Amino acid sequence: MTLISTQTPTAELQALDSAHHMHPFTQGAGLAEKGARVITRAEGVWLTDSEGHRILDAMAGLWCVNIGYGHDSLAEVAAQQMKELPYYNTFFQTTHVPVIQLANKLAEIAPGDLNHVFFANSGSEANDTNLRMVRAYWHAKGEPDRQVVISRKNAYHGSTMAGMSLGGMAGMHSQGGIIQGIHHINQPNYWLEGGDMTPEEFGLARARELEDAILEIGPEKVAAFIGEPVQGAGGVIVAPDTYWPEVQRIIDKYGILFISDEVICGFGRTGNWFGFEYYGTKPDIITTAKGLSSGYIPIAASIVSDKVASVIDTVEFNHGYTYSGHPVAAAVALENLRIMEDMNLVDYVKNDIAPYLAEQWHALGDHPMVGDTKIVGMMASLALTPNKDTRAVFKSPAGTIGYMTRECCFGNDLIMRHVGDRMVVSPPLVITRDEVDELIKRARKSLDEAYEKIKAAGLFEAA
Ligand SMILES: *Cc1c(COP(=O)(O)O)cnc(C)c1O
Repeated sequence: MTLISTQTPTAELQALDSAHHMHPFTQGAGLAEKGARVITRAEGVWLTDSEGHRILDAMAGLWCVNIGYGHDSLAEVAAQQMKELPYYNTFFQTTHVPVIQLANKLAEIAPGDLNHVFFANSGSEANDTNLRMVRAYWHAKGEPDRQVVISRKNAYHGSTMAGMSLGGMAGMHSQGGIIQGIHHINQPNYWLEGGDMTPEEFGLARARELEDAILEIGPEKVAAFIGEPVQGAGGVIVAPDTYWPEVQRIIDKYGILFISDEVICGFGRTGNWFGFEYYGTKPDIITTAKGLSSGYIPIAASIVSDKVASVIDTVEFNHGYTYSGHPVAAAVALENLRIMEDMNLVDYVKNDIAPYLAEQWHALGDHPMVGDTKIVGMMASLALTPNKDTRAVFKSPAGTIGYMTRECCFGNDLIMRHVGDRMVVSPPLVITRDEVDELIKRARKSLDEAYEKIKAAGLFEAA
């Protein structure tokens, strides 16, 4: 066995990585040829790789490192908890202090009657819990036919069987199919799908697809609707203003449950504790993960309303994970929330750094390749286009231009992702104004370089 350490040369680490490590959402053979980037350290919004590059992480890892890297107190809390009580389960009428503290804290932060918490280890698992919970709810209420959950195309709700099925990613569905009883309606993506409508008309039309679906399936068979306030992995798709009020009206009219997937939008990302507060909707269950621990440790939580919990509590809900409410993870999440409150991070996002980023983000709209610019709080996207006036898509297969642009960002030590031909950022919430300036400077430079390459390759052409 080779001794592997941070001192091992990068090329060797890359070879060892591709020999034995299967990466998520990656074509392994392609990566083996290229070699993965090896990240060794991080501080604030900055990553360091094995070659000593300092990289601005405008994605907060995978949308999760809300408080930024390098908060030692989370490590200290974890070490302390591991020494005191590294593990105990919460299945058989037992509990422990960190899980009590965290459940109480989440009930306090979550508005309205969202007062009950079921823990999981990832957003995917929490959505598995939610799917089972809404079906169990209607079963316990004496309406066992209410099984169907309505979701949206291009939604992301995770990668487990239920998470993937609830999600609306065609590339995931095509690898093995989805589980029964999940129905997908169209997404509120005006830029790509708005046609000749105004954004307002389009928002209403897409919301009314929910009503059409309910009527087609039969209201007595629909359990719930699930949606992200802003679609994250789908490309930071921000619905027109008319969309969410109409969705809420339809949910209320038919009395179905509403699951707001807050895995990205939760914990300050939109300038509120939760994304649904930004839109004023009234979910019955919210899915949280990512920002709950700022990614320092895996933990997720379904935060459940009095309405749902009071019914679920009347039955034995045969569901749970060995590590539901893991004491170390709960302690770390609590410390993360303490830091967020201590730094007034939600307020900082809402009143300071998000408006600052928004101004500069929208200014990128003058770039010849940038059409749509969208931003809600600290999640933002740019649509790349060969013709802004017609909202044209490129002739090259979707994602070609986005990928080329992302590679230019990497070259400039900026982590900005692409989703198809949309560029997205979701930086740590603690990012400073100077760092936002740097982000924008590198983004513009990367867009310029990509634009030149794309033109030179004859790819700046509409479909
Ligand atoms: C990331 C994500 C998930 C899945 O969370 P995992 O922790 O990766 O399982 C679910 N929903 C949304 C909105 C997400 O962004």
